[in-house]
Amino acid sequence: SQEQYTLLCLENPLLGNSMPSMTPLPQYLTNIASTDIQGKGDEAMLQKYGLKPNDAILAEEKHMGLYEDLIQNHDAKLIAGGAAQNTARGAQYILPPSSVLYIGCVGDDHYASLLTDACNAAGLRTEYLRSPKNSPTGRCGVIITGQDRSMCTHLAAANDYELSHLKSAPVWSLVQAAKFYYVGGYHLTVCPEAVLTLGKEAAEKDKVFMLSLSAPFIPQFFKSQVDETAPYWDYVVGNETEVRTWAQVHDDVEEKEDVKVIARKLAELPKVNGKRKRVVIVTQGTEETVIAVQGEESVREFKVHVVGQEEIYDTNGAGDAFAGGFIAGIVEGKSLEESVDRGHWLASLSIKELGPS
Ligand code: ADP
Ligand code: MG
Ligand code: MG
Repeated sequence: SQEQYTLLCLENPLLGNSMPSMTPLPQYLTNIASTDIQGKGDEAMLQKYGLKPNDAILAEEKHMGLYEDLIQNHDAKLIAGGAAQNTARGAQYILPPSSVLYIGCVGDDHYASLLTDACNAAGLRTEYLRSPKNSPTGRCGVIITGQDRSMCTHLAAANDYELSHLKSAPVWSLVQAAKFYYVGGYHLTVCPEAVLTLGKEAAEKDKVFMLSLSAPFIPQFFKSQVDETAPYWDYVVGNETEVRTWAQVHDDVEEKEDVKVIARKLAELPKVNGKRKRVVIVTQGTEETVIAVQGEESVREFKVHVVGQEEIYDTNGAGDAFAGGFIAGIVEGKSLEESVDRGHWLASLSIKELGPS
């Protein structure tokens, strides 16, 4: 029906893994990680692949063996990953059935079927392009040592997304049927033309275009791609480090530290669709979430509900979960307050689980 798939998300579909952490597992999680794995091999894995304990990098040739190694020798569990794909699953978790659609590029392989199954199980519809270059499905390997996580991403097929897929008749009709577009910033490294196409379509039809900054290296090394999409942002979401990095690389932004001032700056950037005021959302881990609205002098702040240290299992993907909850609120026409509350709630659920489950 016309009411279906209101929210369309675009980014890089990745298969992730989660490794049992060195820290003892909470009782309720022991069913997903066998106890004989704990505390074994993680440090050695970092050394073997030349990885830093706390890092996020794109894989090089020497990392290619990591993924099978994790699964074969470290009892790593395969999980659906990719930041915006996590956000999309999170939003669908809250919204009525058949609300969320996710687009990206995968390979023609076993991993692609695993991803499709995981998304479908969460009620998320996928419209994947099969890599025209025959690349394998992208993967993100995660090695956890204590509080640190080392993420190593091999984009592979995810890097092969093409605008022609978005513009193909079946997919474009879904684009036209959707009323909200959410793009993960990581896609700016892949196919910025597709991101811009969604932005322009939103502005033209007075739909809602939302972007996540995703990681500091996006505003830093993909500055022009970020800047080009900025006039289309109705909502832009990022964490404290990402918006500070955005300020760092913009000479005309004097304030480089104060998140509230930077959020105001982002809110007042030129905007194509004058019918919607831009909303800037900055999360800061356990610190309050900051919201700046275009044309409003004062910045709003929303306290995060405390989650006890003993309940926290994995904060990886907290921001993705926050975005999922927040967007679900916006899609349902809820107030900013209520949408942030949903974001905080979904994030708190997520950090109590292994990986962005
Ligand atoms: P990112 O994962 O992108 O760095 P944040 O760290 O800002 O994003 O986390 C996003 C949201 O997740 C926060 O606004 C908060 O609601 C929740 N969150 C993150 N870490 C914690 C924590 N230690 N305790 C409670 N909530 C948390
Ligand atoms: Mg954080
Ligand atoms: Mg994040």
